Amino acid sequence: MKRGNTMEELKRIIEEKGKVLSDQVLKTDSFLNHSVDPVLMDHIGRDFAGHFRDDGITKVITIESGGIAPALATAMHLGVPMVFVKKARPVTMTAPLTATVHSFTKNRDYELCVEQGLIKAEDHVLFIDDFLANGDAFKGILTLLDQAQAHLAGAGICIEKSWQHGRKTIRDLGIPLYVLASVKSMSEDGIVWDEPDQ
Ligand code: 5GP
Repeated sequence: MKRGNTMEELKRIIEEKGKVLSDQVLKTDSFLNHSVDPVLMDHIGRDFAGHFRDDGITKVITIESGGIAPALATAMHLGVPMVFVKKARPVTMTAPLTATVHSFTKNRDYELCVEQGLIKAEDHVLFIDDFLANGDAFKGILTLLDQAQAHLAGAGICIEKSWQHGRKTIRDLGIPLYVLASVKSMSEDGIVWDEPDQ
């Protein structure tokens, strides 16, 4: 499958299987972030990997749980490890790096944590996530990477809602951003697509 086709494939599946819960929230849990379509993930992973292939990526990072499937597929296609940051600290985590983040879908703050040592100062890290809304998850990842003194080389997002602030946050920091499906607006009448500015 050609690379641009993944964008069209994702948009088609969103139109067929996604549910617009409000003009702010899109439900994608039948193919992306609860039940997962493995063929779609493979195509998404290949697309992100193709886009960032020459950027010296050494690790893919995401946040549990919605980002895990596309991040793993991307890491497989790049041939690098994937780390998912946790939203609750398990007792097995001995020396965490932490950052406080506001959850868009749950509308509350939570603590991101990742075991120190899983991200190294020499890492060039690619952030992958299912959605980009206001960019809070992204900012949390940046805080963790700063603590590890690692370099954030780019962000790959499956679905952005282009009227929210996330895109501007990432672009203002000069971080390369690649989006597969950009929602301009949505309502019970359906989704209006934007042209992602890559
Ligand atoms: P942000 O931190 O950019 O404000 O929001 C991104 C995070 O919130 C993503 O990791 C995703 O889990 C969740 N999210 C944001 N908007 C939506 C949405 O419309 N639908 C779903 N399912 N998750 C969303």
